[in-house]
Amino acid sequence: MAITSGYASKLPRQGGAARGTMKARHYQAIVVGLGAMGSATLYHLARRGWRVLGLEQFSAGHNLGSSHGDSRIIRETYFEHPLYVPLVQRAHALWRELEAQSGTSLMTITGGLMIGPPDGSVVSGALRSALEHHLPHTLLSPEEVRERFPAFRLAKGLLAVLDERAGFLDPEACDNAHLKLAKDAGAAVHFNERLIDWNPSGDEVRVTTDSATYTADRFVLAAGAWNNGLVPDLELPLTIERQAVFWFDPDADAMLYDKAQFPIYAYEYRAGHICYGFPRLPRGVKASVMHSGEIAPDPGKLNRTVEESEADPLRTALRPVLPALSEAPVRETDVCLFTNTPDHDFIIDFHPFFPRVLISSPCSGHGFKFASAIGEIQADLLTKGKTDFDLSPFRIGRWIT
Ligand SMILES: Cc1cc2nc3c(=O)[nH]c(=O)nc-3n(C[C@H](O)[C@H](O)[C@H](O)COP(=O)(O)OP(=O)(O)OC[C@H]3O[C@@H](n4cnc5c(N)ncnc54)[C@H](O)[C@@H]3O)c2cc1C
Repeated sequence: MAITSGYASKLPRQGGAARGTMKARHYQAIVVGLGAMGSATLYHLARRGWRVLGLEQFSAGHNLGSSHGDSRIIRETYFEHPLYVPLVQRAHALWRELEAQSGTSLMTITGGLMIGPPDGSVVSGALRSALEHHLPHTLLSPEEVRERFPAFRLAKGLLAVLDERAGFLDPEACDNAHLKLAKDAGAAVHFNERLIDWNPSGDEVRVTTDSATYTADRFVLAAGAWNNGLVPDLELPLTIERQAVFWFDPDADAMLYDKAQFPIYAYEYRAGHICYGFPRLPRGVKASVMHSGEIAPDPGKLNRTVEESEADPLRTALRPVLPALSEAPVRETDVCLFTNTPDHDFIIDFHPFFPRVLISSPCSGHGFKFASAIGEIQADLLTKGKTDFDLSPFRIGRWIT
């Protein structure tokens, strides 16, 4: 793979022509995409006194990307790999700090049940990370689970690891808090302004949107499912996956689903296949199956309508652990996007040919919980050129031979 020029002629023209013959406004950093990762990065840069601009193609609080939908799981026992534990621990501390600074409630700790067969990847992976990092946890039998959390009726042969510091975040409130505090610290934030072009030029990056041109010392692509289209020459192996989510309304057992006795959970219903869910929130009791969606060629071509019958595989998956919930009527549905890497680890790395350009793609369906820490890490990379975290699993180079 070789890149000989910038991207000027390569990005699809989606808005009107760039306007303005005046000298382009200059920033120390421009961040494209104000979802979870972009808003956190903007906040950490602004706090350090950097002159920064955040650009978002849609309006504030839109539901077309990956960071909407009322709730995101945060868990410390990381069954995917223990390497994520220090990252989630830093994120946890930063979410609490953000709550204090913004005066907003962002994170609710409910505990978390990591459920599956004893030798499955969820139970054994959660135990591995708990033991390696000395995390508070308890191994529970089906009877013990039912005693503590009565909505759960685990089928024989299943076990649960209780992650005592797990819970959920309010994604819209988290992004708002980051953006508000970034603005308070001097950041410029432009909604409804789409990046259409970027081009490294000498010591800066020239950034063209559908309404203006800017220049910046550093440039961050935090465009979620749109990232691939903004660096087409890299041919990053990112796939965009449609995720349907469901809010159930199990009326008869209302209190059983209250956060006081209903923790967040992840359940390995078949080897390597997971469903997950949350306690009751105003929209209902949310649940979904991970990685079960269609792959879309680009975010604009995604089917945003959810059929009632799409809940059937989720109902089947939930039956051995939450039989009453699996029969409950659906009250609401939504569609969200996963941007997956082949190994489901993230991308946090400088562009291999343009070191002023940072590419941020922490999704594969599990990135939100880390956003506060990733914002800090990305600000460290941009302002100091280094971070204390081991980012080697997140390098772009893992696909370049
Ligand atoms: C259904 C679902 C459930 C999930 N559950 C969990 C969970 O429980 N726990 C967890 O930790 N993670 C979870 N995740 C993953 C998590 O939500 C994502 O990792 C995270 O939201 C990714 O944030 P982002 O900033 O990379 O992307 P986004 O939030 O999509 O932000 C990218 C932004 O860039 C903007 N943009 C794109 N192109 C341009 C352009 N040309 N110009 C200007 N702006 C542009 C987009 O409009 C968008 O707002 C879940 C994801 C989904 C979809």
